[in-house]
Amino acid sequence: MEVIPSFTIDHTHLMPGIYVSRIDRGFTTFDLRITRPNHEPALAPSAIHSMEHLMATWFRNSEVKDDVVYVGPMGCLTGMYVIMTGEYSVHDMRRLTIECLQWILSQTEVPATTPETCGNYLLHDLPMCKWHAQRYLKMLQEDFHFEYTTLEVTLADGRIFADA
Ligand SMILES: [Zn+2]
Repeated sequence: MEVIPSFTIDHTHLMPGIYVSRIDRGFTTFDLRITRPNHEPALAPSAIHSMEHLMATWFRNSEVKDDVVYVGPMGCLTGMYVIMTGEYSVHDMRRLTIECLQWILSQTEVPATTPETCGNYLLHDLPMCKWHAQRYLKMLQEDFHFEYTTLEVTLADGRIFADA
């Protein structure tokens, strides 16, 4: 297996915020961390699924829509990844995410929740999605974290571990 040249973030010190997870070949992967890993309850699958539909809809209709490559949930259910082309900083992403969360809070339904448009259309929870959106919004506005603490974690066979 190929060695993945990536640092590993120290999840024990990771606070909710926005971080640059990786930059490769012109693509920046942003870590939109919504809950504190291993200290706070993660989002329920239904809530983060609704967050995905809403966030993807907002980003793909926003002023930066042409630079949006991907919006999707983390497997650990504590945040979202947004992949962008072009030059964007965590501060740009903070401004965009605040606008996105404010829009989510004004929504009364989750887009694309029919059997034709979603792979698990019953797995949604707008009230819990909005509860997390409200809480995350407040954290981004009042106590913004954007610098990772990193760890070097190498597996026994020499491979470097990476979670994204
Ligand atoms: Zn879906």
